[in-house]
Amino acid sequence: MAELKSTTTDHGFPRNYSNEFLILDKGQGVYLFDISGKRYLDFGSGIAVNALGYGNKKIADIAHKQMEKLIHVSNLFTTEPALEFASKLVDGERFSAVHFGNSGSEANESALKYAKLYSLRTKNENCYKILSFSGAFHGRTMGALSSTHNKKYKEPFGPMIPGTEIIEFNNVEVLTKILDETYAAVIVEVVQGEGGLYTMTDEFAKALRELCDKYKVLIIADEVQTGLGRTGTLYASDGINLKADIITLSKPIAGGLPLSATLIPGFVNDKIEVGEHGTTFGGGPVTTAIASYIWDIVSDQKFLDDVKSKSAYLTGKLEDLHDQYPFIKEIRGKGLLLGLEIEESGNIDVLKIITKAREKGLLLLKTGVNVLRLAPPLIISHKEIDEGVTILKSVLNEISM
Ligand code: PLP
Repeated sequence: MAELKSTTTDHGFPRNYSNEFLILDKGQGVYLFDISGKRYLDFGSGIAVNALGYGNKKIADIAHKQMEKLIHVSNLFTTEPALEFASKLVDGERFSAVHFGNSGSEANESALKYAKLYSLRTKNENCYKILSFSGAFHGRTMGALSSTHNKKYKEPFGPMIPGTEIIEFNNVEVLTKILDETYAAVIVEVVQGEGGLYTMTDEFAKALRELCDKYKVLIIADEVQTGLGRTGTLYASDGINLKADIITLSKPIAGGLPLSATLIPGFVNDKIEVGEHGTTFGGGPVTTAIASYIWDIVSDQKFLDDVKSKSAYLTGKLEDLHDQYPFIKEIRGKGLLLGLEIEESGNIDVLKIITKAREKGLLLLKTGVNVLRLAPPLIISHKEIDEGVTILKSVLNEISM
């Protein structure tokens, strides 16, 4: 086993996963090491999760101390770490409550359920529809999947939840035509993490808010991938002045342990009755204790400004690549969630770039159909950005020869 770097067969996982896995052993800072000791610079962060990178002693320490004290109590009770973290997320003005769950999909399921309850109790039982957009990815559970766009994820599992509509992203005209009071909510990503890193336009954000106010439709910002500093603001919706009614968070929230948060305003919370929603594991003391520590770091303005400046630095490097390689069509994304749209042909292929980069010790992600996604840990340094771009450039050189 020790000499293996990857496993291709008999790994014991279902066929919906890859038949080939890199077996990772440990991590330090922005680097991962496989079981043979090979080092990888991580430009993927475990799909935008590991904002503070790897080997953070403080996270391990918090987890260790809390696990010795108390691991699980269920949602029949609560704990000090859960209360403390909730008090950080809830400001009493914009958001008055947080529902903790365990994954991004679950955070969105909660948001959709809360929106339906609100609509039922402020309008009527016919106002249950949910609107989402082309390119959207909201998760793989049935509610979240119904609002996800990619047919590949949905079609075999139909029929979807009744009343879920999907229209073109950033098209104000279509939005104006379709939206009315029969909708309970619009669920949207400000930067489409899995859909190719398209960003919501200011014009669309403004029209969306106005129409939703007009028809009493809630805006759910799915910030599972973009929230907590990834795009250089605490929430990506802040970055484009979209005032969402509900925000969902997950990926980076607990340093790699499963936790999600659905933030709701008082006027929604007022319409929910005891017992209408719940979960066994959500918001346990270990995950929330870590989340408080992460929150204090990523919500600090200096940290967020630093993400912005590193984003500008990396974007500059990507622009150089764009100038040099004609098959790079566009640079998209925000903060440290950036992408290169690749015009695929012959040897020029996103998966090939990812494979070759991995051989050279750089981990990259794909998004959309043909977009190379870069989402390094937010603690990455300029020097490490240089190292990653140098490896990427050598791969681009090789495949374009
Ligand atoms: N929403 C967005 C924007 C995501 O990027 C993801 C996952 O990639 C999800 C929801 C689903 O999260 P999870 O895989 O934790 O259920």
